[in-house]
Amino acid sequence: MTVTARLLAGAPAAEALLADAAARAARLSAPPYLVMVRLGDDPASVSYVRGKDRKAREVGLSSTVHALPETTTQAELLDLIARLNADDRVNGILVQLPLPAQISEQAALHAIDPRKDVDGFHPLNVGELWAGRPALRPCTPAGILALLDHYRIAVAGQRAVVVGRSHIVGRPLAGLLLNRDATVTLAHSRTPDLGAVTREADLLCVAVGQAHLITPDMVKPGATVIDVGINRVPGEKGGKAHLTGDVHPDAAQVAGAITPVPGGVGPMTIAQLLANTVTAAEMQSGGQAAR
Ligand code: NAD
Repeated sequence: MTVTARLLAGAPAAEALLADAAARAARLSAPPYLVMVRLGDDPASVSYVRGKDRKAREVGLSSTVHALPETTTQAELLDLIARLNADDRVNGILVQLPLPAQISEQAALHAIDPRKDVDGFHPLNVGELWAGRPALRPCTPAGILALLDHYRIAVAGQRAVVVGRSHIVGRPLAGLLLNRDATVTLAHSRTPDLGAVTREADLLCVAVGQAHLITPDMVKPGATVIDVGINRVPGEKGGKAHLTGDVHPDAAQVAGAITPVPGGVGPMTIAQLLANTVTAAEMQSGGQAAR
């Protein structure tokens, strides 16, 4: 079948975001410094943190990873966060989720100095987002806005539907789109007749974690589709497992533009984290964050 949609590849948009971050970093008195904390050996977390660390160095940032044992207590983690908060050399702190069961995610995220909260998950930054005031923004949603801007896709005045209401993607994405004057609907697992809602969308963003939940008939012809989902599916007839999105690939025959999985939103998340680290460093030296 023929693909009619424009493919919104993440790599060129991420490169542009990183080039801008590197240029801003070069204007500071010292390279922005990101510290990441990871607990245990969850393979996905190990690989995410390694990727972020490598990219940070590539664009000229300083980066350190604290790899703590799975058995780390909450008090030990909070003690490390307090030391990083107090260390003036550290501009950004990221605690890789998920955390082991003995540690409250809320306690850890609340402990990070909001000015160093490069993941944008601290309640102060969440509040600033919904108030439409400048602050550090969650990386995946902010990366999606950067992707749309890179490809000059209009947001203001558009009817946007976000499917998925997680704290890391769906909710903050709805807030960012609202701040950019979209008319936003936030759909979720209890939304009746999801297709009727998604078919209204000029801009459809899907962050659920269910392979091919969105079928072509659920997409408005010509819509822009942002597929955040990353789902590992087993290969056919025992073949190699591969990654696929929340949107069925045939939706590319209906949509006007669509992000591929992998290679769409994914690269934007890391690039935005590094851009946030530069923004944090700028703010700490007296500058302003993005709206
Ligand atoms: P989550 O599990 O925290 O949230 C999923 C959301 O989907 C929930 O709010 C739930 O209400 C909603 N949902 C579940 N079933 C639904 C249904 N049938 N219809 C409508 N809504 C439904 O997930 P998350 O952390 O937001 O991640 C979502 C997906 O995005 C995952 O595949 C994840 O791997 C991916 N992800 C990708 C990136 C990236 O950088 N590309 C970053 C974060 C997450």
